[in-house]
Amino acid sequence: MRILDRKEIEVEAATTIEAPEVEAPPEPPALRGPAGFEFELPIGYIDEDGRVHRTAVLRKMTGKDEAIMADRRNRNSAARMITELLASCIVRLGAIERPTPQLAQSLYSADRYFLLIKLREITFGPDMEANYSCPTCKESQTLNEDLSQVPVQRLEDSAVPDDVVVELDDGFFDRTSGETYYTARFHHPTGVDEERVTAVTRENPSFGKNALMARCLIEFGAIPKARLEALGSGIFNELTLGDRARVDAALNENAPGVDMRRELTCSGCGRRFQATIDLSNFLTPS
Ligand SMILES: [Zn+2]
Repeated sequence: MRILDRKEIEVEAATTIEAPEVEAPPEPPALRGPAGFEFELPIGYIDEDGRVHRTAVLRKMTGKDEAIMADRRNRNSAARMITELLASCIVRLGAIERPTPQLAQSLYSADRYFLLIKLREITFGPDMEANYSCPTCKESQTLNEDLSQVPVQRLEDSAVPDDVVVELDDGFFDRTSGETYYTARFHHPTGVDEERVTAVTRENPSFGKNALMARCLIEFGAIPKARLEALGSGIFNELTLGDRARVDAALNENAPGVDMRRELTCSGCGRRFQATIDLSNFLTPS
Protein backbone atom coordinates (compact mmCIF):
# COMPACT_ATOMS: atom_id res chain seq x y z
CA MET A 1 0.00 0.00 0.00
CA ARG A 2 1.22 3.47 -0.85
CA ILE A 3 -0.15 6.92 -0.18
CA LEU A 4 -0.48 9.03 -3.31
CA ASP A 5 -0.56 12.74 -3.72
CA ARG A 6 -2.71 14.63 -6.18
CA LYS A 7 0.03 15.17 -8.74
CA GLU A 8 0.76 11.48 -9.05
CA ILE A 9 -2.89 10.67 -9.46
CA GLU A 10 -3.08 12.99 -12.47
CA VAL A 11 0.07 11.63 -14.07
CA GLU A 12 -0.73 7.96 -13.87
CA ALA A 13 -2.52 6.36 -16.82
CA ALA A 14 -4.39 3.13 -17.29
CA THR A 15 -2.61 0.00 -18.40
CA THR A 16 -3.68 -1.32 -21.78
CA ILE A 17 -3.77 -5.00 -22.61
CA GLU A 18 -1.10 -4.74 -25.29
CA ALA A 19 1.10 -2.39 -23.33
CA PRO A 20 4.36 -3.65 -21.88
CA GLU A 21 4.72 -3.43 -18.13
CA VAL A 22 4.14 0.07 -16.88
CA GLU A 23 6.92 1.28 -14.63
CA ALA A 24 5.95 2.20 -11.10
CA PRO A 25 5.81 5.97 -10.77
CA PRO A 26 8.58 7.50 -8.64
CA GLU A 27 7.92 8.32 -5.00
CA PRO A 28 5.89 11.53 -5.04
CA PRO A 29 6.89 14.70 -3.27
CA ALA A 30 4.32 15.45 -0.56
CA LEU A 31 2.50 18.44 -2.04
CA ARG A 32 -0.96 18.78 -0.56
CA GLY A 33 -1.00 15.78 1.66
CA PRO A 34 -2.47 12.39 0.93
CA ALA A 35 -5.32 12.28 -1.59
CA GLY A 36 -5.94 8.60 -1.14
CA PHE A 37 -4.47 5.13 -0.79
CA GLU A 38 -3.45 3.20 -3.85
CA PHE A 39 -3.97 -0.53 -4.37
CA GLU A 40 -3.47 -3.03 -7.17
CA LEU A 41 -6.68 -4.98 -7.81
CA PRO A 42 -6.55 -8.79 -8.02
CA ILE A 43 -8.29 -8.78 -11.45
CA GLY A 44 -9.13 -5.25 -12.55
CA TYR A 45 -11.87 -3.47 -14.46
CA ILE A 46 -12.05 -3.88 -18.23
CA ASP A 47 -13.63 -0.96 -20.06
CA GLU A 48 -15.48 -0.96 -23.41
CA ASP A 49 -12.23 -0.49 -25.30
CA GLY A 50 -10.71 -3.52 -23.61
CA ARG A 51 -8.36 -1.52 -21.42
CA VAL A 52 -7.65 -3.01 -18.01
CA HIS A 53 -7.78 -0.61 -15.06
CA ARG A 54 -6.11 -2.22 -12.09
CA THR A 55 -5.00 0.61 -9.84
CA ALA A 56 -7.64 1.74 -7.39
CA VAL A 57 -7.34 4.80 -5.16
CA LEU A 58 -9.48 4.65 -2.03
CA ARG A 59 -10.30 7.30 0.53
CA LYS A 60 -11.09 6.60 4.17
CA MET A 61 -14.71 6.00 5.13
CA THR A 62 -16.61 8.97 6.55
CA GLY A 63 -19.89 9.53 8.37
CA LYS A 64 -21.63 9.45 4.99
CA ASP A 65 -20.44 5.89 4.46
CA GLU A 66 -21.63 4.83 7.88
CA ALA A 67 -25.05 6.09 6.79
CA ILE A 68 -24.84 3.98 3.62
CA MET A 69 -24.22 0.90 5.72
CA ALA A 70 -27.02 1.74 8.12
CA ASP A 71 -29.53 2.44 5.32
CA ARG A 72 -32.46 0.07 5.63
CA ARG A 73 -32.62 -0.38 1.84
CA ASN A 74 -29.10 -1.79 1.93
CA ARG A 75 -29.62 -4.00 4.97
CA ASN A 76 -31.30 -6.75 2.97
CA SER A 77 -28.54 -6.88 0.41
CA ALA A 78 -24.88 -7.00 1.37
CA ALA A 79 -24.02 -6.91 -2.34
CA ARG A 80 -25.98 -3.69 -2.87
CA MET A 81 -24.36 -2.14 0.18
CA ILE A 82 -20.87 -3.02 -1.03
CA THR A 83 -21.70 -1.37 -4.38
CA GLU A 84 -22.80 1.86 -2.70
CA LEU A 85 -19.86 1.88 -0.32
CA LEU A 86 -17.29 1.32 -3.06
CA ALA A 87 -18.89 3.91 -5.35
CA SER A 88 -18.59 6.37 -2.48
CA CYS A 89 -14.98 5.57 -1.49
CA ILE A 90 -13.20 4.82 -4.79
CA VAL A 91 -11.59 8.09 -5.80
CA ARG A 92 -10.11 6.74 -9.00
CA LEU A 93 -9.89 3.45 -10.87
CA GLY A 94 -7.04 3.41 -13.38
CA ALA A 95 -7.82 6.33 -15.69
CA ILE A 96 -11.42 6.63 -14.47
CA GLU A 97 -12.10 9.43 -12.00
CA ARG A 98 -14.89 8.92 -9.47
CA PRO A 99 -16.40 5.70 -10.80
CA THR A 100 -20.20 5.45 -10.80
CA PRO A 101 -22.24 2.93 -8.77
CA GLN A 102 -22.83 1.07 -12.07
CA LEU A 103 -19.10 0.64 -12.43
CA ALA A 104 -18.65 -0.45 -8.80
CA GLN A 105 -21.42 -2.97 -9.39
CA SER A 106 -19.78 -4.38 -12.51
CA LEU A 107 -16.44 -5.01 -10.78
CA TYR A 108 -15.48 -8.62 -10.20
CA SER A 109 -16.45 -9.95 -6.78
CA ALA A 110 -12.78 -10.72 -6.17
CA ASP A 111 -11.93 -7.02 -6.58
CA ARG A 112 -14.94 -5.88 -4.57
CA TYR A 113 -14.06 -7.97 -1.52
CA PHE A 114 -10.44 -6.96 -1.82
CA LEU A 115 -11.43 -3.26 -1.82
CA LEU A 116 -13.79 -3.79 1.10
CA ILE A 117 -11.00 -5.28 3.22
CA LYS A 118 -8.65 -2.43 2.25
CA LEU A 119 -11.33 0.14 3.06
CA ARG A 120 -11.55 -1.13 6.60
CA GLU A 121 -7.76 -1.29 6.82
CA ILE A 122 -7.14 2.33 5.77
CA THR A 123 -10.00 3.67 7.92
CA PHE A 124 -9.37 1.88 11.22
CA GLY A 125 -6.09 0.03 10.77
CA PRO A 126 -5.53 -3.66 10.01
CA ASP A 127 -6.74 -5.10 13.34
CA MET A 128 -10.37 -6.16 13.54
CA GLU A 129 -12.16 -8.16 16.18
CA ALA A 130 -14.02 -11.14 14.71
CA ASN A 131 -16.41 -13.60 16.30
CA TYR A 132 -16.82 -17.21 15.23
CA SER A 133 -19.17 -19.80 16.62
CA CYS A 134 -18.66 -23.52 16.34
CA PRO A 135 -21.25 -25.20 14.07
CA THR A 136 -21.23 -28.26 16.35
CA CYS A 137 -21.43 -26.96 19.95
CA LYS A 138 -22.14 -23.25 19.26
CA GLU A 139 -19.25 -22.16 21.50
CA SER A 140 -18.11 -18.76 20.27
CA GLN A 141 -14.62 -17.35 20.17
CA THR A 142 -13.31 -13.88 19.54
CA LEU A 143 -10.18 -13.48 17.46
CA ASN A 144 -8.17 -10.55 16.25
CA GLU A 145 -7.96 -10.54 12.45
CA ASP A 146 -4.97 -8.77 10.97
CA LEU A 147 -6.45 -7.68 7.63
CA SER A 148 -3.04 -6.76 6.25
CA GLN A 149 -2.19 -10.47 6.41
CA VAL A 150 -5.18 -11.74 4.42
CA PRO A 151 -3.68 -13.58 1.41
CA VAL A 152 -4.31 -11.95 -1.99
CA GLN A 153 -3.99 -13.73 -5.33
CA ARG A 154 -3.53 -11.42 -8.30
CA LEU A 155 -3.55 -11.97 -12.04
CA GLU A 156 -0.22 -11.32 -13.66
CA ASP A 157 0.46 -7.80 -14.92
CA SER A 158 -1.73 -6.80 -17.87
CA ALA A 159 -3.37 -10.23 -17.97
CA VAL A 160 -7.05 -10.28 -18.94
CA PRO A 161 -9.14 -12.61 -16.80
CA ASP A 162 -9.87 -15.87 -18.58
CA ASP A 163 -13.09 -17.77 -18.20
CA VAL A 164 -13.00 -20.46 -15.56
CA VAL A 165 -13.15 -23.94 -17.09
CA VAL A 166 -14.05 -26.81 -14.77
CA GLU A 167 -13.67 -30.50 -15.62
CA LEU A 168 -16.20 -32.56 -13.69
CA ASP A 169 -15.78 -36.16 -12.56
CA ASP A 170 -19.40 -37.28 -12.58
CA GLY A 171 -20.79 -34.74 -15.03
CA PHE A 172 -24.33 -33.67 -15.81
CA PHE A 173 -26.69 -36.20 -17.40
CA ASP A 174 -29.23 -34.49 -19.64
CA ARG A 175 -32.36 -36.62 -20.05
CA THR A 176 -33.37 -34.73 -23.17
CA SER A 177 -30.32 -35.71 -25.18
CA GLY A 178 -29.36 -38.81 -23.19
CA GLU A 179 -25.82 -37.44 -23.01
CA THR A 180 -23.54 -36.69 -20.08
CA TYR A 181 -21.55 -33.46 -20.14
CA TYR A 182 -18.32 -32.94 -18.23
CA THR A 183 -16.91 -29.50 -19.05
CA ALA A 184 -18.39 -26.28 -17.71
CA ARG A 185 -17.19 -22.76 -18.51
CA PHE A 186 -17.90 -19.80 -16.22
CA HIS A 187 -17.11 -16.10 -16.06
CA HIS A 188 -15.77 -14.76 -12.76
CA PRO A 189 -18.70 -13.53 -10.62
CA THR A 190 -19.31 -9.77 -10.49
CA GLY A 191 -21.28 -7.46 -8.22
CA VAL A 192 -24.14 -7.60 -10.73
CA ASP A 193 -24.31 -11.38 -10.33
CA GLU A 194 -24.20 -11.09 -6.54
CA GLU A 195 -26.96 -8.51 -6.41
CA ARG A 196 -29.19 -10.61 -8.65
CA VAL A 197 -29.00 -13.68 -6.40
CA THR A 198 -29.40 -11.80 -3.10
CA ALA A 199 -33.05 -12.72 -2.52
CA VAL A 200 -32.47 -16.42 -3.24
CA THR A 201 -29.39 -16.51 -1.01
CA ARG A 202 -31.33 -14.99 1.86
CA GLU A 203 -33.94 -17.73 1.62
CA ASN A 204 -31.47 -20.56 1.19
CA PRO A 205 -27.68 -20.13 0.92
CA SER A 206 -27.31 -23.40 -0.97
CA PHE A 207 -29.82 -22.32 -3.63
CA GLY A 208 -28.11 -18.94 -3.67
CA LYS A 209 -24.87 -20.66 -4.57
CA ASN A 210 -26.62 -22.55 -7.38
CA ALA A 211 -28.15 -19.33 -8.68
CA LEU A 212 -24.77 -17.58 -8.67
CA MET A 213 -23.12 -20.48 -10.51
CA ALA A 214 -25.96 -20.47 -13.05
CA ARG A 215 -25.56 -16.73 -13.65
CA CYS A 216 -21.84 -17.18 -14.27
CA LEU A 217 -22.24 -20.28 -16.46
CA ILE A 218 -21.34 -19.59 -20.10
CA GLU A 219 -21.47 -23.11 -21.53
CA PHE A 220 -21.81 -26.67 -20.35
CA GLY A 221 -20.40 -29.23 -22.77
CA ALA A 222 -22.42 -29.18 -25.99
CA ILE A 223 -25.74 -28.32 -24.34
CA PRO A 224 -27.52 -25.82 -26.66
CA LYS A 225 -27.93 -22.29 -25.25
CA ALA A 226 -31.73 -22.44 -25.12
CA ARG A 227 -31.66 -25.74 -23.25
CA LEU A 228 -29.10 -24.37 -20.82
CA GLU A 229 -31.30 -21.38 -20.09
CA ALA A 230 -34.31 -23.64 -19.57
CA LEU A 231 -32.35 -25.73 -17.07
CA GLY A 232 -31.34 -22.60 -15.14
CA SER A 233 -29.89 -23.09 -11.69
CA GLY A 234 -31.54 -26.54 -11.52
CA ILE A 235 -28.53 -27.96 -13.32
CA PHE A 236 -26.45 -27.45 -10.17
CA ASN A 237 -28.97 -29.31 -8.04
CA GLU A 238 -28.30 -32.35 -10.20
CA LEU A 239 -24.53 -32.25 -9.82
CA THR A 240 -22.91 -34.54 -7.28
CA LEU A 241 -21.55 -32.81 -4.20
CA GLY A 242 -18.03 -33.66 -5.37
CA ASP A 243 -18.59 -31.90 -8.70
CA ARG A 244 -20.25 -28.98 -6.98
CA ALA A 245 -17.20 -28.63 -4.74
CA ARG A 246 -15.02 -28.67 -7.89
CA VAL A 247 -16.97 -25.77 -9.35
CA ASP A 248 -16.87 -23.92 -6.05
CA ALA A 249 -13.10 -24.39 -5.72
CA ALA A 250 -12.50 -23.18 -9.28
CA LEU A 251 -14.61 -20.06 -8.80
CA ASN A 252 -13.37 -19.24 -5.30
CA GLU A 253 -10.33 -20.96 -3.86
CA ASN A 254 -8.19 -21.18 -6.98
CA ALA A 255 -9.31 -17.84 -8.38
CA PRO A 256 -7.78 -14.37 -8.01
CA GLY A 257 -8.97 -12.38 -4.99
CA VAL A 258 -8.72 -12.28 -1.22
CA ASP A 259 -8.87 -15.52 0.70
CA MET A 260 -11.69 -14.87 3.17
CA ARG A 261 -11.65 -18.41 4.55
CA ARG A 262 -10.51 -19.27 8.05
CA GLU A 263 -9.56 -22.64 9.48
CA LEU A 264 -10.61 -22.60 13.12
CA THR A 265 -10.46 -24.97 16.06
CA CYS A 266 -13.32 -24.75 18.55
CA SER A 267 -12.14 -23.90 22.05
CA GLY A 268 -15.13 -25.82 23.47
CA CYS A 269 -15.27 -29.19 21.70
CA GLY A 270 -11.98 -29.13 19.82
CA ARG A 271 -13.58 -29.63 16.39
CA ARG A 272 -11.97 -27.99 13.40
CA PHE A 273 -14.26 -25.96 11.18
CA GLN A 274 -14.14 -23.52 8.31
CA ALA A 275 -15.63 -20.03 8.34
CA THR A 276 -15.33 -16.85 6.30
CA ILE A 277 -13.88 -13.77 7.95
CA ASP A 278 -16.50 -12.21 10.20
CA LEU A 279 -17.12 -8.62 9.08
CA SER A 280 -19.71 -7.70 11.71
CA ASN A 281 -17.23 -5.28 13.35
CA PHE A 282 -16.44 -3.67 10.01
CA LEU A 283 -17.34 -0.21 11.35
CA THR A 284 -15.98 -0.70 14.87
CA PRO A 285 -12.41 0.40 15.51
CA SER A 286 -10.37 -2.18 17.41
ZN1 LIG B 1 -17.41 -26.70 19.35
